[in-house]
Amino acid sequence: MKEILERAYEEGLKYTDQGQVATYIPQLAKEDGSKVAIAAYDVDGSYFEKGEVDKRFSIQSVSKVITYILCLEEIPAGKIQKAIGVKPTALPFNSVLDLELGDGKPRNPLVNAGAIAATALLYEKFGEDTFDVVLNKIRDLADDEDIVLDKSIYESERSSAFTNFALFNLMVSRGNLSADIPIQKVADAYFKACSVLVNVKDLARIGYVIANDGFDKISNEEKFSKDIARRVRTVMAMAGMYDYCGEFAQLIGLPAKSGVGGGIMTASKTGLAIATYCPGLDSYGNSLVGIKMLEYMAKEMDLSIY
Ligand code: GLU
Repeated sequence: MKEILERAYEEGLKYTDQGQVATYIPQLAKEDGSKVAIAAYDVDGSYFEKGEVDKRFSIQSVSKVITYILCLEEIPAGKIQKAIGVKPTALPFNSVLDLELGDGKPRNPLVNAGAIAATALLYEKFGEDTFDVVLNKIRDLADDEDIVLDKSIYESERSSAFTNFALFNLMVSRGNLSADIPIQKVADAYFKACSVLVNVKDLARIGYVIANDGFDKISNEEKFSKDIARRVRTVMAMAGMYDYCGEFAQLIGLPAKSGVGGGIMTASKTGLAIATYCPGLDSYGNSLVGIKMLEYMAKEMDLSIY
């Protein structure tokens, strides 16, 4: 695996000039597209890494996985089912049309509307502590106390979040979320969760826990139930790579979640996890180099679960 991972990294380096860093969140436009990293846990727990593995970047949509785990742990199942679907993603991650077609019910917890709805459910329980609860969960799963909020990214997100507010308002206007909900506060918890700084090692570790049915084989602790892990991997497979999920399933065949910060986290039922980083994105919002590296690993190691 070490050799294949290193070759995957070399393969990825060939494409660093082809992706585009996200610009719709002004602060992300400053990222350096030449930074590349890959980290992986093999089924036996051996760990391999290559590249800029200490480089911190905003977790962005990968946080939606952790928010969903928390929801499944803390909120009654019926309430989640009523507010958020589990349908594959077919339109872009922040599509208002997608939400409109669902009559205000988000398609799944990994598109923006779904993660905002999940944050609203958590807010009903945790109120002003909601972001801290999410942050602590990310720290716990990654086993990394140095994970913190990047205030400038959070403020940048907040000031450019017109589409996210449109999604939020549509969910309230269709009665999917209560009109009493403090929109600005819930939105702030969502923006902050996206603006947490992680590195590729953190994503590999979180993926490794999800891959191993919620059990952290490194610390020997159960972090969440097997049933939750199965549900989470399922939505990752259906919806984790935006509207590229079908192609990703054929090409690579691993449950995965990507974020516009350039991270991708995978978690295979076989117990293996690979995470990648490079901030240049393709037209779907996925790290272009990350996909190239995963494609290489999946082919060489025959990783597809399908
Ligand atoms: N914070 C980003 C947004 O809400 C997350 C997008 C993503 O990574 O998919 O637009």
